[in-house]
Amino acid sequence: MILVPVGEFPEWLLARLSRRTRIPLGPPRVDPAVAWNPGRGQYDSNRLLAELKAHYDGVVIGATACDLFIPVLTFVFGEAEMRGRAAIFSIHRLREEFYGLPENARLLESRALRELLHELGHLRGLAHCQDWSCIMSSAHSVERVDTRGDKFCHDCRLKLEAAGAAHGVPA
Ligand SMILES: [Zn+2]
Ligand SMILES: [Zn+2]
Repeated sequence: MILVPVGEFPEWLLARLSRRTRIPLGPPRVDPAVAWNPGRGQYDSNRLLAELKAHYDGVVIGATACDLFIPVLTFVFGEAEMRGRAAIFSIHRLREEFYGLPENARLLESRALRELLHELGHLRGLAHCQDWSCIMSSAHSVERVDTRGDKFCHDCRLKLEAAGAAHGVPA
């Protein structure tokens, strides 16, 4: 499993996320421009997952600052193939600046880490969890990203362990 930037992504943040999850960094190979949708002014998340799979072998998680969408939703924080090979998450709407607030690097890092772990859970076959404090609960707003915890609940952790997926999941 590797973590790769898709388009411009703050280097310090990529390094921190790699260190905290112990997922090694890979080279940038996907240009997000191919997924640009001029009608929506956003980037097609499904297309980027396909690009990641086309450009990398093995399991790959893309980190981007592009605003992502899937057709049925106005935006997504991230997307992953269930029990699959590719995932992507975006910091576009995790930045305080997006909401007209002052920059907050620590908060950004904490949110980005939680999004990465959430998508990692999907890659490992976890569905959304009903426990609102679990990192696998669904979040459609940044407030929910903040209120959900940064840990997998007991049940989700057991499922992860059953899938043999302790790697890349900090305790
Ligand atoms: Zn999810
Ligand atoms: Zn859970």
